[in-house]
Amino acid sequence: MEITLKTVQEISLFLQKGVLIFEDTDRLEDVGIVTSLDMTEDQAFAIIFQLQEHWKLIPAHFELCSDCKVIYDAHTEGVYVDEDKVYPNSEGGWQFYRHDAGKHFCDSCAERLAIPREEK
Ligand SMILES: [Zn+2]
Repeated sequence: MEITLKTVQEISLFLQKGVLIFEDTDRLEDVGIVTSLDMTEDQAFAIIFQLQEHWKLIPAHFELCSDCKVIYDAHTEGVYVDEDKVYPNSEGGWQFYRHDAGKHFCDSCAERLAIPREEK
């Protein structure tokens, strides 16, 4: 089984709400037994992160957006805010406020949270 973005989103939803997604219809199926887990997006992603980094069962390029909490594929979108992306240390591209250092953002949150050009 190939681990896709949808797979990782499904694992997260399973940990949060105890539901599975039917691949063909996107219908949610309540599987009941784990609804008591009732995890937040961050708690669910903490488990996914261990499956990525420790057991290598899930590719590491799936990330949780620090702001909107959507899981996205970092191969095709998003940004990690490291020291090079904190103003004024970088040139070009998105630049962020220092309080966002160390966070992952999907494209739409990065667009919204990056420092507007005129403020620099
Ligand atoms: Zn986001």
